[in-house]
Amino acid sequence: AGAELREGAEVRDHRVLADRVRVALAGGAAAEARVLVAADGLGSPTRRRAGLERPVRAPERFGVRRHAEVPDAGDAVEVHFGDGVEAYVTPVGPRQVGVAFLFERGAARSFEALLGRFPALAARLDGAAFATPARGAGPLARAARARVADRLVLLGDAAGYLDAVTGEGLSLAFGCAIDLAALLPGALARGATAHDLAAYETAWRRRYGPYARWTRLVLALSRRPGLRRRLIALAAMAPRPFERAVAAAVG
Ligand SMILES: Cc1cc2nc3c(=O)[nH]c(=O)nc-3n(C[C@H](O)[C@H](O)[C@H](O)COP(=O)(O)OP(=O)(O)OC[C@H]3O[C@@H](n4cnc5c(N)ncnc54)[C@H](O)[C@@H]3O)c2cc1C
Repeated sequence: AGAELREGAEVRDHRVLADRVRVALAGGAAAEARVLVAADGLGSPTRRRAGLERPVRAPERFGVRRHAEVPDAGDAVEVHFGDGVEAYVTPVGPRQVGVAFLFERGAARSFEALLGRFPALAARLDGAAFATPARGAGPLARAARARVADRLVLLGDAAGYLDAVTGEGLSLAFGCAIDLAALLPGALARGATAHDLAAYETAWRRRYGPYARWTRLVLALSRRPGLRRRLIALAAMAPRPFERAVAAAVG
């Protein structure tokens, strides 16, 4: 569609002008456009600069992952619950799994220590070669006062995020990007003010609402081991309602 891609460009600043937005890049270069769509992640510097940051009062949770080579990755996602930490094993290729931990502050200091909290999983991965270093993110819960301002849109985690406990984040971001692509030509034609972009805020809420409700529910369950065990046993006995709940949560 004629877009110019600039890989590795670091945005240092942005200024909203009457008819465009100017972005200052590291190294002194600049770029201009009619609208700035900021998809700069959980800690979104753009969200902060635009004064859209909203403090979150929730226990701080973090995530870290590596990829391990295994003889057979299988086709199932595994979720292991521990006290203040969960482990996720996800097949990403015939012989590679992603191993991710989501945990509360203070649960452990390293990937190895987190793995040590799940002895059965640690035994299975004993001696496995890791294809990637441990990389993490957090705190996961972030909020914005609004998703739009004059000539500015927040997308993906920058728009607000709760937790990765449901394995959600990417489709939320892509779904919102599709919504934005549909409504942006009209909003640009009207002037791309916060008012003109309001339909994006509505579209974001429509997608974020169900994600947030399910995520809060699963987080609450993860903190109640007794109830969680009973529900998992029920789901094992009646997989259909469980499958329907998963479909409702993440599509
Ligand atoms: C351990 C873990 C496991 C997860 N598992 C899943 C999963 O299984 N499925 C799923 O859907 N989601 C998962 N998520 C969530 C998912 O990773 C995020 O929702 C998703 O990456 C958000 O994409 P994004 O583009 O908004 O942000 P990011 O992926 O964080 O990308 C933001 C980008 O902006 C760049 N950036 C930041 N500042 C600047 C700047 N000033 N100038 C230029 N570039 C900048 C960053 O370098 C980065 O590349 C997981 C998250 C974690 C932490």
